[in-house]
Amino acid sequence: MMRLPKFAYHVPRTVADAVKMMGDAGPEGRFVAGGTDLYPNMKRRQQAPRTVISVTRLAELNRVEGDGREGLRIGAGVTLTDLCEHPTVNRDYPEVAAAARTISTPILRNMGTVGGNLLLDTRCNYYDQNYEWRRAINFCLKKDGDVCWVAPGSSKCWAVQSSDLVPLMVAVGARVKLVSTLGERTVEAAGLYNDDGIDYLHKRPDELLAEIQLPARNGWRATYKKLRRRGSFDFPVLGVAIRLDMEKGGEIKDAKIVLGGIAPAPMEVKEAAAALVGGALEDERMREAAEACYVRARPLDNTDFLMNWRKQIARPYVLRALEELRRGGE
Ligand SMILES: Cc1cc2nc3c(=O)[nH]c(=O)nc-3n(C[C@H](O)[C@H](O)[C@H](O)COP(=O)(O)OP(=O)(O)OC[C@H]3O[C@@H](n4cnc5c(N)ncnc54)[C@H](O)[C@@H]3O)c2cc1C
Ligand code: SF4
Repeated sequence: MMRLPKFAYHVPRTVADAVKMMGDAGPEGRFVAGGTDLYPNMKRRQQAPRTVISVTRLAELNRVEGDGREGLRIGAGVTLTDLCEHPTVNRDYPEVAAAARTISTPILRNMGTVGGNLLLDTRCNYYDQNYEWRRAINFCLKKDGDVCWVAPGSSKCWAVQSSDLVPLMVAVGARVKLVSTLGERTVEAAGLYNDDGIDYLHKRPDELLAEIQLPARNGWRATYKKLRRRGSFDFPVLGVAIRLDMEKGGEIKDAKIVLGGIAPAPMEVKEAAAALVGGALEDERMREAAEACYVRARPLDNTDFLMNWRKQIARPYVLRALEELRRGGE
């Protein structure tokens, strides 16, 4: 049985107390929400914080406010189950509820939160193993070792950003509010991710993710498609998120296509968006966009399925997502 290491556990009631506790804990501190990512990682000794600060009792992080007209503010501590079932989310942002429904299992969604999902550790077959397994291969660059087993000549870790909400949040242009003892700042979700499997967030460890802000629903459509081995539950090994801004006549005036589950950060494919903008959602444009995604997608051999097959499957998944958006506009 894998056991948790010893740690001090704090449950603050206000955001001010939470960030103060984190300031006091220093580099040995870590926030925890549902713990569905952090606690397994601690059991595997991938992370071993001395102080764990729970965000579950912070009322400010447990609210959903606003609507599609003004934009939606989702507290980072809202559970995935509450997100999936929230009436305003289902009415005004159904693609967000649908993407959340594909995450893990009902029991894990009862614990797992939106914030934890956005800040998920990157994943790799050589890393998501227990301590003894990792020791048997002399560990790897991401933790305790000095070689990357996926790309042995590489000085970079290629562990994969594997959240289902991240590509969609980036595609729709969500923003996130971060709070620390130094104050607060709000940044684009797109700017939160760094293309490095070890240093995967542009966020200081002492910053608390407080809120996710979705833009007002002024005519854009979006969708998310996920490739996984088991339909019941599995991490994405390819995610396709698309947002389209369309004129009344059907002309696309702006588009964003983001691929997840294939690199250390979500990947925006600008060439695919460029293929769509300026015309209607016609077969030829859709094929060009799918081809652009196929060219840019370069998954490595560190998650499920053969990497070449995952690259090829990017085409039909992008086409499937665009088809759905086209049908939604009829
Ligand atoms: C069997 C299994 C299957 C899964 N399948 C999927 C899947 O299909 N898709 C998917 O996307 N995920 C999946 N997950 C991962 C996980 O369950 C979800 O991503 C979940 O949303 C994580 O949320 P959490 O609250 O439990 O995060 P936690 O474990 O509490 O935290 C995750 C990370 O975020 C940090 N953190 C959490 N909240 C905050 C905050 N407010 N401010 C600052 N830092 C914070 C923690 O320090 C930690 O580093 C799976 C997990 C398991 C165990
Ligand atoms: S990509 Fe390389 S360094 Fe990163 S976790 Fe996998 S084996 Fe380790």
